[in-house]
Amino acid sequence: MIIAVDGPAASGKGTIARALAQHYGLPHLDTGLLYRAVASTVLREDLDPSREADAVSACGFEDYLLDDPWLRTDEVGKVASVVSAHPLVRAALLNRQKKFARQPGGAVLDGRDIGTVIAPDADVKLFVKATPMIRAQRRHLELRKNGVLTSLDKVLADIRSRDERDSKRTEAPMLQAPDAALLDTSFLSIDAAVQRAIAIVESKTRTADTPA
Ligand code: C5P
Repeated sequence: MIIAVDGPAASGKGTIARALAQHYGLPHLDTGLLYRAVASTVLREDLDPSREADAVSACGFEDYLLDDPWLRTDEVGKVASVVSAHPLVRAALLNRQKKFARQPGGAVLDGRDIGTVIAPDADVKLFVKATPMIRAQRRHLELRKNGVLTSLDKVLADIRSRDERDSKRTEAPMLQAPDAALLDTSFLSIDAAVQRAIAIVESKTRTADTPA
């Protein structure tokens, strides 16, 4: 079974994808980490993220880089959103994601274009969303817990500009696939959101099993 989970930053898609993977005993790939790995290489090597050739030269990173906690920072996330708009960067990371999705037994992948580009044939597609203000509040709280002092307004502005870049780019923009179930986590606890996601998977797979 392939489960595709897409949605914007801080919508809860990563938490939901990890929980689904655990529940169904499937391997999980956070595809945002791949773009973050490219971004961190660009930053470390003092390259220009807006130059496609510079970003492409950073795509040959080693796997161990994916465990670097720096990748999960907002600084790297912002640059990931710039490098991910380059068609050649997306092309360089495509096969790796498709291969992961197609492994025997299936997989759970989360990102922006899983249901539309990476696994358009996924058995279940979820598009996870929450209002920009609620996502900003979640991210602000998380940053404060990690000792990063910043204003809610700044976090909200960052979220809005990342949404804008991710959804307006021409190559594989963030988009709800027509056959994806929408899960709005704005007013749901983590537990309730995960239970809702499991219920969606159950109902989609039950429908698929029902003889016509
Ligand atoms: O999901 P995460 O915030 O880690 O993703 C970082 C950035 O990587 C996103 O803002 C987006 O620009 C890019 N991304 C993408 N396609 C994916 C996953 C992430 O373009 N499948």
